[in-house]
Parts: sequence; C-alpha cells; structure tokens
Amino acid sequence: MDNHFVPHMDNCFNDNINIINNINNIILEINEETNEKLILTIKNIDLSIINALRRIIIAEIPCYCIDTVEIIKNTSVLEDYNIEQRLMLIPLQIPSLNLEDHNINCDCNYCSTILSVNVKNDTLDIIDVTTNNFTSSSDIFFSNSNPITITKLRPGDSFILDAHIKLGIAKLHTKWSTISNCYHWPLNLSQDDNSFLFCIESNGSYTASKIMSLALNILTKQLSFLRLHLDNYKSLCNQ
Ligand SMILES: [Zn+2]
Repeated sequence: MDNHFVPHMDNCFNDNINIINNINNIILEINEETNEKLILTIKNIDLSIINALRRIIIAEIPCYCIDTVEIIKNTSVLEDYNIEQRLMLIPLQIPSLNLEDHNINCDCNYCSTILSVNVKNDTLDIIDVTTNNFTSSSDIFFSNSNPITITKLRPGDSFILDAHIKLGIAKLHTKWSTISNCYHWPLNLSQDDNSFLFCIESNGSYTASKIMSLALNILTKQLSFLRLHLDNYKSLCNQ
C-alpha cells in the first residue's frame, strides 16, 4: 500500500462508519404510489447511500427475461434476428418468488419456463402475431396485458418458436432491466439538509414498491458486508 494512501484509508473508514450509523435516522415518506411508479421523500440520507440505492435499482435487481429463442419456422415479414431482439426486450411479470432460491443454473419449473407460439395464417388477410398468441409453461408471462405486436403474417405465412427464459441482472445485459427510469434530486438546492425526492418507474416486471423493497434488501446486505470488512480493518489497525 502506498504511504500516502494510509491516512486517506483512515478518513475513509471513519466516514463510512458515520454514514452506516446514520442510516437509523433516515425518514421515508411516500408521495405517490401506483403499480408502475413510486415517488418518495427521503430525509437524513447521505448522497452516497441514495446513489447506491439508485445504482442497485438500475443494475442489480434479479428478474427473468427471454434469453434464447429457438425459431422453428418463420416466414413472417421480420428476420429471425429482429424477432429475437423484440422478444428479449419485452418485460416478463415475475410471480412472488424468493429469487435467492434460484440461480442461472436452476432447472425448476420457473427457471426453465418456455414461452411458445404457433400461428399459421390461413386467412386471405395480413394478420398480427402478438404476445397474446403465446402460451407459457409456467405462470411467468409478458407483463403487459395489452397485446404487443411481434410480427405480421401474410396469407400462408407461419410463425413457430420456443422462447427460453433465464434469471439475470441488468449489470450483465440491459434486457434484465426492471425499470424504465430511476432518479433522485435534492429537495432543497440552497440548503445542505440531505433530503431528496426519489422516483422509481417500473417496466412492469415488478411493482415499483417491490423494486424498492428488493433494492433495500440488497443494499442492507452490501452494507453489512462493508461493515464487516471495516470492522476487520479497524481491528487490524489496532493490533
Ligand atoms: Zn429456479
């Protein structure tokens, strides 16, 4: 370790301990709550904590999305590649599962869900294939109840595929994102009172309040981990 880095580490240690201890004083007030949107007033919070919360919400909330698409027949107007891209970015509604019990190698009924579609246009008109034409092997399905058009079929066209889902986080790929937006801004620009408005807009995978609850669980675990390492560092310094 560089000599000039040691005093900085000492300050860093004290600052971090203060931030963690001050978490008990945080006040949360709900300004607006719908399934899609949550706006909170958060008081007595350090900017670093609220920013950590925002970054967890953007990148670390686990969810399912379509990961691989097995196209069996596609004579529609769109190429296979475009179909895959469209399907991967449509949010899936997650049932109330404890996702800590699952991982990317899990082969349970949920983690091996297949969303299938088999449509042949036997009419003389152009028809749409929508998310409503899909069936699911579990209760994981597209989150939007309004049909989303995937492609169009001319008379005689066929569209048959199996889409396999996978558990992941947006840090790996944005297709696992659970939000359409998440941001915060200070309540009082002129005063340094550590109060912020905090907004979460869900993309439909979870309700906005569920995203907040999952993010708080992850942040709590990360802070416990940080406290443990700071305590270890402190005891090492005192030896
Ligand atoms: Zn599983």
